[in-house]
Amino acid sequence: MVSAVRDPTGFLRAEYEELVRADLDWKLRVLDGPSAPWSVVDGQRVLMLCSNNYLGLSNHPRLKAAAIEAVRTHGAGSGSVRPIAGTMDLHRELEERLARFKRAEASLTYQSGFATNSGLLPQLVGEGDLVVSDELNHGSIIDGVRLSRAERAVYRHADPSDLERVLDEAERHRPEYRRVLVVTDGVFSMDGDIAPLDRIAALGAAHGAMVYVDDAHGEGVLGEGGRGIVSHFHLSRDRVQVEMGTFSKAFGVVGGHISGSRDLVNFAFNKSRTWLLSGSHPPAVAAACLAAVDVLEQEPEHVERLWSLTRRFKKAMADLGFDLGRSETPITPVIVGESSLAKKLSQRLFELKVFALPIVYPMVAKDKARIRTIMNAALTDEDVGTAVDAFAKAGRELKIL
Ligand SMILES: *Cc1c(COP(=O)(O)O)cnc(C)c1O
Repeated sequence: MVSAVRDPTGFLRAEYEELVRADLDWKLRVLDGPSAPWSVVDGQRVLMLCSNNYLGLSNHPRLKAAAIEAVRTHGAGSGSVRPIAGTMDLHRELEERLARFKRAEASLTYQSGFATNSGLLPQLVGEGDLVVSDELNHGSIIDGVRLSRAERAVYRHADPSDLERVLDEAERHRPEYRRVLVVTDGVFSMDGDIAPLDRIAALGAAHGAMVYVDDAHGEGVLGEGGRGIVSHFHLSRDRVQVEMGTFSKAFGVVGGHISGSRDLVNFAFNKSRTWLLSGSHPPAVAAACLAAVDVLEQEPEHVERLWSLTRRFKKAMADLGFDLGRSETPITPVIVGESSLAKKLSQRLFELKVFALPIVYPMVAKDKARIRTIMNAALTDEDVGTAVDAFAKAGRELKIL
């Protein structure tokens, strides 16, 4: 008898301990109270520089009031999956309001962004099709593409000429592909750079390919009033057929969504297994998301504030001599090199009351370990000064500056 049979779960501890030995295990920090500019993390009051809550909406009074009211009127849960008995007026209203905000014919919400990509991509393409993907796309896109059983080709990060090469090659060698889909993140979460979606959309059109953009980090940040990357580049919806996003980042709540044509939405909700087979959002979630759309429409100052703080922070950090990579958005990586140095810097920053996590190999290249900071519209100018001072002090102590 091999030992695996006597102890079928022995790998659980063995693999976990391997991660701990390599210092690659997640050590969870715990927030006591809301995600706010100053949050209590592991019992310490610290400046929050690593939440995706770009506009401070997760703790906005209008979102909180809407969630509480929806519990009173609609209860704690929805009772079902969307297609059976889990579609409430709140879900429909959210989809209508979101479509109006996005200036699309129709929108559809999912339980999460992950459920959107992993549920919809395998329906848009399948065996005999080709997916062309940016090499740095999000894991939920990668998993969705795997589930599809379509062939996959990868192009160099944010490089339209390499995308063109891949599309040309596909046309030459396999003219019989049923469908071709180009998929990209809108804003890349590790570097904060923006996909050249204008050129990607033009190439898609020239090659008869669908274009799918995952704008999780562009919404609430880019475009008119935070409408996202399609608005940022003024693109027409017949060039970018699927605009996907999430309510878990700038919108401050949770949930995924797509916007596009009515045909897209009708297809998506009849086909996506994550949508058909998994419970719908509790009323409080749908109502809070609705309030977030209202706030974005009625209080554009949050997006303006986000950008003015972002510019202030980037300038101060660049003046100090930090390497901020290729960021063009409120995601600002502070690249330091070795993984161990990034971890030490994060630890020292925490002692100085600034909370920003290290991103290390294998998430980024071995010599590109970094602290990833994300600016937040709810910070004061003084908070930004506090963050910069902490980086300056820790950076000098660790001889990064
Ligand atoms: C966060 C993220 C997702 C997942 O969204 P959730 O709603 O949190 O599941 C998908 N794609 C990208 C690019 C993301 O950054």
